[in-house]
This record gives sequence, C-alpha cells and structure tokens, in this order.
Amino acid sequence: MQKPRDLARALQEKETRKRYLHPNKRSLFAILWRLYAPVRKSPRIVLASITYALTSGVLPLLGVLVTYVLVGLLSAPDASPQRMLIAAGVYGAVFFVCSALSRQVKNRNSMFFTRLRLQYLQACNARSMSMDLGLFENAAFNEDTETAYWSLSSSGSGVEGTYDKVFDLGGTLVSAALLGAMLSLLSPLMLALGIAYVAVMYFAQANVGAFKHKRRMELAGIARRSAMLSRSASDFHAGKDVRLYDMAGKFQQVFEPIFAANMKLYRAFTKRELQLSFLESLALVAVDLVGGLLLINKLLDGVLAMADFVMLLSALVLFTQLMMTLAQQLSYVKVETLYVQDAFDFLDADLNSLDGTRDIPGEGPVEVVFVDVSFSYPGTDRLVLENLSFTLKKGERCALVGLNGAGKTTLVKLLMGLYRPLSGRILINGIDASAFSRQSLYAAFGAVFQEVEPLALTIAETVAVSTRDIDRERVEESLKTAGLWDKVKSLKKGMDTPLLKIIHEDGAILSGGENQKLMIARALYRKDTRIMVMDEPTSALDALAEQAIYQHFDSILKGRTALFISHRLASTRFCDRILLLDGGKIAQHGTHEELIAKEGLYRQLFLTQGKYYQQEGGSEA
Ligand code: ADP
Repeated sequence: MQKPRDLARALQEKETRKRYLHPNKRSLFAILWRLYAPVRKSPRIVLASITYALTSGVLPLLGVLVTYVLVGLLSAPDASPQRMLIAAGVYGAVFFVCSALSRQVKNRNSMFFTRLRLQYLQACNARSMSMDLGLFENAAFNEDTETAYWSLSSSGSGVEGTYDKVFDLGGTLVSAALLGAMLSLLSPLMLALGIAYVAVMYFAQANVGAFKHKRRMELAGIARRSAMLSRSASDFHAGKDVRLYDMAGKFQQVFEPIFAANMKLYRAFTKRELQLSFLESLALVAVDLVGGLLLINKLLDGVLAMADFVMLLSALVLFTQLMMTLAQQLSYVKVETLYVQDAFDFLDADLNSLDGTRDIPGEGPVEVVFVDVSFSYPGTDRLVLENLSFTLKKGERCALVGLNGAGKTTLVKLLMGLYRPLSGRILINGIDASAFSRQSLYAAFGAVFQEVEPLALTIAETVAVSTRDIDRERVEESLKTAGLWDKVKSLKKGMDTPLLKIIHEDGAILSGGENQKLMIARALYRKDTRIMVMDEPTSALDALAEQAIYQHFDSILKGRTALFISHRLASTRFCDRILLLDGGKIAQHGTHEELIAKEGLYRQLFLTQGKYYQQEGGSEA
C-alpha cells in the first residue's frame, strides 16, 4: 500500500489500518525462520539445542529400558540382587548425566533467549518513539499495536515463550520418536494412532488459540481501559479529588461495564476450552485403550514375555503423555507465533507519513508562513484551526495568545511537523514544510513545552539530549542562562545527578518550575536551533523566576525566530508582535501598544487580567 501523506488520519479507517499494518499473513515457517535468524548464526546455541534434544529426549526411554532389564533380571531363574544393583546403578548414573546436562544447557540457553526478546522489545520501543505523534491519539491503532508488545513483555509467552518451547520440543520429539519406534514393534497402528492424536489435538488447540488471537483487539481495549482506571484509582495525584468528592462509587460504576465485557469475552474463550478438554480426554483414553488391548492380546497369545509386556506397557503410558505434550507444544508455538507476527508487523510497518528529503535552506533564523491552514484532530470533525494565515518574519519574536482551548498548542504541533494540516500550507523559508525531511525540521526547532516530563537521565544528559560527547561547559552555560545553575550546583552530584527515582534511587525530583527551566536549558544547548517555540514555558514559575528568564531572553533568542505562547498577556509585551488566536483564526495582531489601543478581545483580556493582578497586588499589568 502506498505511504499516506497523513498516516494518523489514514489509519482511522479500519480496513486501511488492517491492510497497512498487517499487509500479509506469514506462514508459521516464515515466522520461525525470521525468529531463528540470530540462533542460526550462533553455533553454540545450535549445538546446545541438539545436546538438549538428545539428553532430555532419551530420559523416558531410559526409564522404560531399566524396567525391562530389572523385570528380566528378577524373573531369571538365577536372579541375583547384585546384578540388579549394578543395573540400577548404571541406570542412575546415565540418568544423572543426561538430566544434569540437559538442565544445565536449558538454563544457560534461556538467558540467550531473554536477551533476544529484550532486543526485539528495544526495537519496538524505538519504533514507538519515532512514529508519527498523531498515531498515539488513535485508540484503535493503539489497541492494534499493543498486541505487538504482548509477545515481548513476558518471558512466558510470545517471542521468548516460542524460543523456550521450540527448545523443549526437540527433547519431546526425540522421546516420541524413540518410544514410537519401540511401540511400532508391537503394532504400526500405535504409531499411526499417536500421530493422529497429535494432529487432532494440535488443530483443536491451535483453533482455540487462533480464536483468542482474533479477538485480541477487544481484549486489548478492555485491558487498556481497565488498566487506566486502576491507574487512576491508585494514582496519588487523583487521590485528593477521589476522597473529597467521594468518587469511589463513580469509579466502580465506570468499571462495571468493562468488567462485564471482560467476563463475556473470557466466557467465550472458556467455552471453547471446555469443549476441547472433553475431546482431549476422550482421545487420550482411546489411544491408551487400543494400545492396552493390543498388549494384552499379545500377552495372552504368548507372543510377549512378561518383561516385554511390562516394558511396552510403561512405554505406552509414557507415549500417550508425550503425545499430549507434543500436541500442546506444537499448538503453543503455532498460537504464540501469531502474536510474534504482530510484533514483526509492527516492526516492519512504516509508521511515519510521507515526508520530503530537503533540508531547510539558508542559515540562522527562519521565516514561517501559514497559508489558509485548517486542522481537525484525526477521528474528530471539529476544525480547531480554520483557514488560518499569518507570517512569522525572520528573527521576529512573536507571542501567540488566546483563550484556553483556542488552538495555540495545536498550531505549534503543526508548525513543528508533528501533525499535518488538513488543508492549506505551511511554508518555511518559502518552501512547503512537507518537502523537508523530518530530521531537518525537528533539528531546526528548540521547543519548550507546557507539560514537562523529564526522562530518567542525568541533568547533563537531559540538557545535552545525549549520553556521549557532552559539552559540559555549554551545559553549565545553558543552565545558568535558564536560571537553574544554583540549584544544580547544590546537588551532591551536580549536573551528573540523575533525574526521577524510577531507575536511580538517589535521583532528584525537580519542581514543575525547575523542570521548565531544565527544558529551557535543553533548548538553549542546541546550537542549530533556528526557531524557538515556547508553549507556556514559564507557567510553573513564580513571577520573580519568570522575570529572571525574561531578562535573559536576548541571549536565549539571539539569532532565532521565536514563537512564544503565554496566557499571561503582560508577560508577552517584550515581543515584537502579538497574534491573538480566536475561533480558529488569527483574530487580531499587532504590538501590545497597538492592540491595547483598539477595542477588541485582546484589550478586553488584558484589562481583565490586569485588574486581577492589581487586586492581587501583582505588578504585571
Ligand atoms: P490551547 O493550547 O489554545 O489551550 P489546544 O491547541 O490545546 O488549545 O486545543 C485546541 C482544541 O483542540 C481544544 O478544543 C481541545 O479540546 C482540542 N484538542 C486538543 N488536543 C486534542 C486531541 N489530541 N484530540 C482531539 N482534540 C484535541
């Protein structure tokens, strides 16, 4: 399928989503072939797999043989306890060597498989971090791709589960072949029955698994909603509201239908499994019965000696169990690889809209022109921006103001190429922004957003957005300009202090305002920033801290175009021009003095805010 210009919008449609994300069904062999590419390259793992198959595979046969030998020795006319002890001793030694070796090999290999799963997980994370931002807002897309993570998030299923099970399968196959060969001496019918049993059970179990996989998105939807509710219920930040407004009952109410949907789905799954378990028991009894009858018949006919009979009987019991295990392991691999396929689909899908290859021409500050830009969020009809036009001149400092929900953040997201306009064009230095490569576009922007979420890196790494080649002097300089240096200096490890406590116990937790300063420092550190976009960068700062930042704005913005969003109108007065966004358009623009002199929304807002601050004793207005 051709790559869409606006992926988030195109993938709203169910059929398109299916075709784009799951373009072809892969055969079991194709999935395993790909999954085993790293294994094939490792002779050590191949050797270990063969060793395991042989050493664990002979164990059941050893058990059968020792019974045969012991019964033979016991029923011999010259039976001697000494010989029996020797036989048991030899059996014990061989059993010990084989089982110890197989366990050793298995445990060592499981680490290799865990590493492979984590590598896939890393690749999927990288995909999530580079895909179009708009895709995050598409619930159906999230549910679809979430199942890719199911196969990577635990060691007991999906990718790692398949590796482990195929490893075990080697041993089961060797055991089944040995015992099957032994029983076929009794009658080839036994072997045929065993194979038929495995085939029936494999298809039945794989069918139940495929049914579950088909409904995985429903399950993902339920799981997502229920996880979100549980998260909110146990979220410390929501705790005050929940208690004060007695919201626990409401939570339960919302949870009720999710719970009911979950039960309904599981009932459907269980029904199939119950039917299957009935079939499974029946088939197992049938194999045992036929084998048993054959054995008794031959014993009565005098064809079998007692020792042969006991040996074949224990072989039969083990064989039926093995057939059951074999069917389970094969169907497990079949079903889990369906989820592995989801992970491969996610890794293979191109999750970025069609973009250009050009670099933004020229050097230094850029000019931005919006021409009749309209935009609605994917999946909604409401136009947040409607035929919006304005020009941001090279090196100009513009403030973008407007009421809450006017669309200021949306405009910024469009400007930075995180979303595509529904119609109209955004020109940067005279060229349609869609002609630029994503990298060149992102590199041109130094952005400080309203919601500040640092990652669990050190302060220096955060500012330099890197873990290598950090210019420490520049980090210090940026932190000084952003007004955070005194705080950083006071920390025991200085700029090498890790942030957050999720990874490092001694991580620092910064306040909202300090986080904002940190993000300002990060934007300052980048040398090639040609346009600074600041979305309420000082909203968590107190008036004094905000003032201090403004005093540094000349150095912060030097040689860059700047778009600055703030709801505090007074704080935007240092800008060359103010754009007022209202009704999806630029309703007013001009300098602060020009706008204040005119009747209109700006003047109205400014006066209202001014009055408010004056009453508070503030000095902003
Ligand atoms: P502002 O930054 O001016 O406060 P926003 O750009 O955040 O406004 O939001 C503009 C409008 O778009 C609001 O009505 C908001 O509800 C809506 N909106 C914002 N983000 C999304 C989204 N991800 N999906 C759907 N609607 C959204």
